[in-house]
Amino acid sequence: MSEVNNNATTIILFGATGDLARRKLYPALYSLYKKQNNFAVIGVARRDYDHDVFRQNVLESLQNHSNPGDDVEDFIERFYYYSLDVKETKAYGGLKELADKLDQQYDLQGNRIFYLSLAPDFFAPVTLNLKDAGLTTNTGWKRLVIEKPFGRDLQSATELNDTIHQVFDESEIYRIDHYLGKEMVQNIQVIRFANPIFEGIWNNRYISNIQITSSETLGVGERASYYDHTGALMDMIQNHMLQMVALTAMEPPSRFVTEDIRDEKVKVLRSIRPLTDATVANSVVRGQYTRGTMPNGDVVKGYREEENVNEQSMTDTFVAARLFIDNFRWAGVPFYIRTGKRMTAKSTEIVVQFKDAPKRPYFNNFNDLQPNLLVIHVQPDEGLSLKLNAKKFSTGGGSIPITMNFSNTNQDDGASAYERLIQDCIHGDSTNFTRWDEVALSWQFVDSIAKAWKERNIPLDRYEAGTMGPASSHELLAKDGHHWWPLTKTTEK
Ligand code: NAD
Repeated sequence: MSEVNNNATTIILFGATGDLARRKLYPALYSLYKKQNNFAVIGVARRDYDHDVFRQNVLESLQNHSNPGDDVEDFIERFYYYSLDVKETKAYGGLKELADKLDQQYDLQGNRIFYLSLAPDFFAPVTLNLKDAGLTTNTGWKRLVIEKPFGRDLQSATELNDTIHQVFDESEIYRIDHYLGKEMVQNIQVIRFANPIFEGIWNNRYISNIQITSSETLGVGERASYYDHTGALMDMIQNHMLQMVALTAMEPPSRFVTEDIRDEKVKVLRSIRPLTDATVANSVVRGQYTRGTMPNGDVVKGYREEENVNEQSMTDTFVAARLFIDNFRWAGVPFYIRTGKRMTAKSTEIVVQFKDAPKRPYFNNFNDLQPNLLVIHVQPDEGLSLKLNAKKFSTGGGSIPITMNFSNTNQDDGASAYERLIQDCIHGDSTNFTRWDEVALSWQFVDSIAKAWKERNIPLDRYEAGTMGPASSHELLAKDGHHWWPLTKTTEK
């Protein structure tokens, strides 16, 4: 079997009329088609479409997001639709027939990707239905791509995992955390391990603290009914934020192969100091936005005024936390993480703050010495900047901060996170997907916070929309003698 054919596959996409499919997955699949991947797609959803109506929808979604070329007609010809209520066990037989037919028609070698872009309650029943209908006893390989959230806590995640394992082996399960598909998140390991100048000082001897921010300017929008039962802790901390902590803190793997990399991430998650009810109160801030003015002048509603949000809602739209990783490399170095909606800017960045130079006796007249900062800009700006001190251009002495910038913005291949991840799945590379033990350890940590919030009735700290979160988030760092660094851009002078 040739390499190309072994990568050929039928992609059975559940939730084909949904927001994620339209905004992210179809543009990603179109790029993959242009890169000579051989696949056919069966879109599955409840609506009573035929193939042509579905193809027209796919085309429209591409037109909304890019400028499709002449090949788009050939591309959408590979899309088929199967109307199905996923709870209807009996209806899966027809799906199998269509999948078998397309397999022959496009020479897809019996390979199948089942992509569950559905509400999480459906993940377990759909997986079992696939098995019962014989869809998973295909002749080639089979892979399950599963969207977030993977469970609501450790217990429900474990139950879901046990069910899925009745049908798919762990090596066949691709749990999506789309941050792991982002260019600069993938770049963290290269920056660290391909540059001995950084790796040598990447420890508690030289690093004062690490700050990871993922802020949004958007409010809860149309996702309110989902979000009001979720919040920032489950939506962001459990997955994206802890994954960025793990990648920033992990040891170099013995080999750059999937399981060795994942093993090192797991060790970090296992070394995070557990939080107790008492330590949650002084290590974690939960916030919720109130009415405020965004930087562009728009006055926006408070969270509790949003449509489909309970007026008394205690849902966290902001979380900041201080973590410690109790191993030899990181003992004593605080990792501060924060994420929230309706903040001043949309930005994801990792700031590594190095320890201060000894000010006396060398620099006692250098009043403006700043700590060295290495900033990894994840989004929307992609790049790297290093803040240093240099001598002032004058005879009077003193220093000025200077910045070395690398910006990714002019790179040609702007592949999206979803494109990279689907390509990896087609190639059978699960490095940038989360393994079960990573998921379980993340839930264990997040559950301890959720439990303390519930049982100790810790109040919500309100913050005005258009700010960088509640005052308590700033106090969290101030009590350690630190402060959040302002968000920066690689393009800033
Ligand atoms: P959505 O509500 O827009 O779409 C849901 C899809 O599921 C629709 O195609 C709908 O027809 C289908 N569906 C619902 N009930 C069904 C049933 N009984 N039988 C068959 N089909 C049914 O949701 P979405 O925003 O596209 O999200 C899908 C998944 O992706 C969710 O797990 C979500 O958490 C995750 N996700 C979404 C985003 C995003 O930006 N939208 C981002 C990250 C993760």
